[in-house]
Amino acid sequence: MEMTKARFTQTDLAKYPFLKETAMLVKQLDLKIEELTNPDIAAILNRAEERVREAIMSLSVGEKREADVEIPSFPVALLLVINTKNSFIKKRYALAEAKQAFVDMQTESSEKILLIARDFDWNIELTRFSTMPLEFAISFTDYLRNTTHLRDKKWKLVNRLLVNGKVYLNKQDVARLLQEEVQRRIEKRLEVTELPVLPEKIAEITKRLLELAKEKIGQEEMEGLPKVVTQSAFPPCILALYEAASKGRHLSHVGRFTLTSFLVNIGMPPEKVAELFKSFSDYNERLTRYQIEHIAGERGSRTRYTPPRCVTLQTHGVCVNPDVLCRRVSHPLSYYKRKQKQLSSNLPKSN
Ligand code: SF4
Repeated sequence: MEMTKARFTQTDLAKYPFLKETAMLVKQLDLKIEELTNPDIAAILNRAEERVREAIMSLSVGEKREADVEIPSFPVALLLVINTKNSFIKKRYALAEAKQAFVDMQTESSEKILLIARDFDWNIELTRFSTMPLEFAISFTDYLRNTTHLRDKKWKLVNRLLVNGKVYLNKQDVARLLQEEVQRRIEKRLEVTELPVLPEKIAEITKRLLELAKEKIGQEEMEGLPKVVTQSAFPPCILALYEAASKGRHLSHVGRFTLTSFLVNIGMPPEKVAELFKSFSDYNERLTRYQIEHIAGERGSRTRYTPPRCVTLQTHGVCVNPDVLCRRVSHPLSYYKRKQKQLSSNLPKSN
């Protein structure tokens, strides 16, 4: 079956604002940056801010509006994200838009899926048995490019029907691979570093978004931690986990996760972290590396995980021997940062 008549409607362009056709439409609108704060089009700016806010808070992009607001709000949201100059917000926003697209694509007609895939220059067609579950055939190269970061066994080529260089897929799988494309396209658009002078109101929104991101992931992640690993600045809980791991003693699941996420966040390379687990009786090099890289945000959702907060660690019995500085922090990374500052400035120690 070939798609000859299917076309994107205005509703589609609002639903999939990353499409080339949506970008062309926005270009025709000729929206000027200085007009963005005009009260007559406040709805666009409000929706753009909402898109980013929802992405930061819940990895979604909020409720859709009418096309005349929805379509221009996407490039304005990109502008807001670029203006934050923050890599966490950039990644998070691209992922949130891509995830939303995945949800929407699953209920699209097959012809619409073909149109979207071809917007990314995929070599894709509907199979002759288009009423069968595996109704799409995509080129081997398009498949490989988009499964690089997908670790689930089902994406391994050996688990797929491959005939004459074509991989046969159902709609849900095609939508999932397109999610990867969408994310990459948006990340690319967010690579811009130079922006024109923006109205004061945009600067205020940017500030609000940065504050929100700080609340979400903590000050340390936003500002970055010093990249020299200082063992003497480890909080008592981490020191205990680190010593136990070095001696090959068993760690609970929470303990392993806490230690790994702490170490990758303070800048220890994944291969160094992996070495720490080598003396464990259940050590598996490949699996350990995969788990560490996943926590470090180098795989899968590309989200770097942080250790649980002190209150959670207390519940799981991971908080041991808390000292005086512990009373002033609520997170092991805050402890580490404060302690490092103390050590480097030779201030009197708190413990
Ligand atoms: S209070 Fe927090 S930082 Fe201190 S030992 Fe407990 S969990 Fe670790």
